Amino acid sequence: MNRLVVMKFGGTSVEDAAAILRTAQIVAGRVAKGLQPVVVVSAMAKVTDLLLSAAATAAKGDRASALAITERLRIRHRDTATQLTAAGSRDAALGNDGANPAVVATHAWMDAEFDGLDEVLRGLAVVGELTPRISDMIVSYGERLSSRMITEAFARCGLNAVHVDARQCIVTDAQYGKAIPQDAAIERRLKEKVAPHLAEGRVPVMGGFIGSTEQGVTTTLGRGGSDFTAALVGGGIDAGAIEIWTDVNGIMTADPRVCPDALRVKIISFEEAAELAYFGAKVLHPATILPAVKKNIPVFVLNSKNAENSGTRITAMAPHCSSPFKSIAAKKRLTIMDIVASRMLLSHGYLREIFEVFDKHRCPVDMVSTSEVSVSLSVDSNEKLPAIAADLSKLADVKYEGRKALICMVGENIRGQNGIAARVFQTVRHVNLRMISQGASEINMSFMVEEDDADEAVRSLHAEFFSDPDPAIFDVEAVRLGIGSRE
Ligand code: ASP
Ligand code: MG
Repeated sequence: MNRLVVMKFGGTSVEDAAAILRTAQIVAGRVAKGLQPVVVVSAMAKVTDLLLSAAATAAKGDRASALAITERLRIRHRDTATQLTAAGSRDAALGNDGANPAVVATHAWMDAEFDGLDEVLRGLAVVGELTPRISDMIVSYGERLSSRMITEAFARCGLNAVHVDARQCIVTDAQYGKAIPQDAAIERRLKEKVAPHLAEGRVPVMGGFIGSTEQGVTTTLGRGGSDFTAALVGGGIDAGAIEIWTDVNGIMTADPRVCPDALRVKIISFEEAAELAYFGAKVLHPATILPAVKKNIPVFVLNSKNAENSGTRITAMAPHCSSPFKSIAAKKRLTIMDIVASRMLLSHGYLREIFEVFDKHRCPVDMVSTSEVSVSLSVDSNEKLPAIAADLSKLADVKYEGRKALICMVGENIRGQNGIAARVFQTVRHVNLRMISQGASEINMSFMVEEDDADEAVRSLHAEFFSDPDPAIFDVEAVRLGIGSRE
């Protein structure tokens, strides 16, 4: 059996000393079961945002405010390290944390890191230009700090943990801000930098999100990139499983805040998870786990605040499910644009002209529906809409209307089943439907409603399609026992 497991912990799973100690216990639990973890961690919660705002502030020339941000981050990391040392060490009885040699040593390397960061920010305040390369360098401190601090905490908790600098393993190209990983090089580096530790029975711990070019210049994989790191490492070392530890119980049949009857989905296909993520379910971005899917490595989404829960398993192939849908997602704050032109009748190239306008404004489009003389599109409500409408009005009559919501029902079993659409639309017959789409991916059926009707529509649909849930796919046990399958 393959005992290698990549365990990724997101920002909320390492947000403070208590969370980090919980994380240590979860990892220790896997080791006790005979598994061999490789741990990937995010920066502590909110740190990435704060580093980016420090960078932007410095680039505007406001050195003092930028350094004030990093000063608060320095205090937060130092305090967390102090608490971790007190909690984990036998000589906590020394009382005076400042005198504890372990704390002194940790604070010393942290100070050195923060001094380096402040140096960059001072330079940036003088130069006044924030390049993507400098931005990556600044933002990388979040994961550099968290991973090293967490390695020390793990060691104090009795784990045989060793820090690995992710930048020495995750080789990327030089597209700063969203660098592309180089699979073959990564595989080689992991053999060099991680495999020997595993052979010695150690638990390697590395930061997610960060990497470097072949020349050693720091890069990042894009926001939320730690999941991507976990998949790259899992793929590179041929892990038996990848665990994404977050703060929800996995993928649910609906948002539990909207629909109290929502059930945990125990198993879902990669494609289904991808559709849900696209339509606003924020659990993880499935594109990032592609390296794992390609190698057929199962990915689990788990809750570090409820570690007993078995989460959601994402697999390449969907298992058979007796109900047509796995989950209902709703995306609010959308705007519908209706573009009407009789010129479209019997002409070609018209859609291209329309989409060129959206392209020019870098505005993604969610849903499209066309008739002979009109096109309706849905887009995220944003401040660019008046400018987009102005450009479109050169081509056609344009109307737009905000406060819309997209309801997206996902499931492999809607392929080729008769009568599903009738059941869906019968259920929401009291709701005014604005746009409908089915077939684009064969596993989703979506439609647009007024934002105020969205929650009610989700609840009605959930009652209709999940009243007799398949126990192989959904966590029905929690319902029977009346306990929290819920967030
Ligand atoms: N810390 C990075 C971010 O907030 C990467 C991650 O957490 O996945 O985007
Ligand atoms: Mg994340």
